[in-house]
Amino acid sequence: MIKIERKPTEKALLAQEDLKLAREKGTTYNTDHVNEALREMFHGKCYICENKEATSFQIEHLIPYKGDVELKYDWNNLLWACAHCNNIKLDKYDPIIDCTQEDVEKKIAFRKEGYFGTDEKFVFISLDDDVKTKNTVKLLHDAYYGTTSQKKMEARIIRKHLRENISDFKNYVREYIEAVGEDKEDLELLIQNELSDKSEFTAFKRWLVRDSENLPELKKYL
Ligand SMILES: [Zn+2]
Repeated sequence: MIKIERKPTEKALLAQEDLKLAREKGTTYNTDHVNEALREMFHGKCYICENKEATSFQIEHLIPYKGDVELKYDWNNLLWACAHCNNIKLDKYDPIIDCTQEDVEKKIAFRKEGYFGTDEKFVFISLDDDVKTKNTVKLLHDAYYGTTSQKKMEARIIRKHLRENISDFKNYVREYIEAVGEDKEDLELLIQNELSDKSEFTAFKRWLVRDSENLPELKKYL
């Protein structure tokens, strides 16, 4: 999870018009414009697990609306999540951090511990005592590890994809450290891209750079 800017793009404005109309008519918030605007805003990835390769994405309400029409149609309450994470969250972790308002990476550290098999795990560490931070940490853990037996299977697939991403990223950084001249410049561009909002699992990659004592020149991309 990273901070995502809720920008007033053309798609976002169309989505808000749809929501206003849907609210008046009592029709669905799940329109093409709303889906397109959210997918663009969240760079095509789930705001909870940061996976782009999910087969099914859904519109998620940050604050569960439970019949509250204001919350149901409020553009600022809508997020883009994969079906796996959306079905885990439901209304069980309320309140969580609003990633469109707060810098999540200042509140939670995202780390991978261990190397192989059972000693290898992804950990989420609260950096403050805010109840929202604690609930978000719990949600992240459940999203990456699953709750029911079916969700544990889904989570295993997400973790495999996450491990592959982290492994590729570490290789780019290793190559970058050894490289000189144009090769180094090319690798730096690649790493900059990997650390950008639109990359997958960005929070983990940024925390690798943050935690490293050897990469001061890459810290400007955080
Ligand atoms: Zn997800």
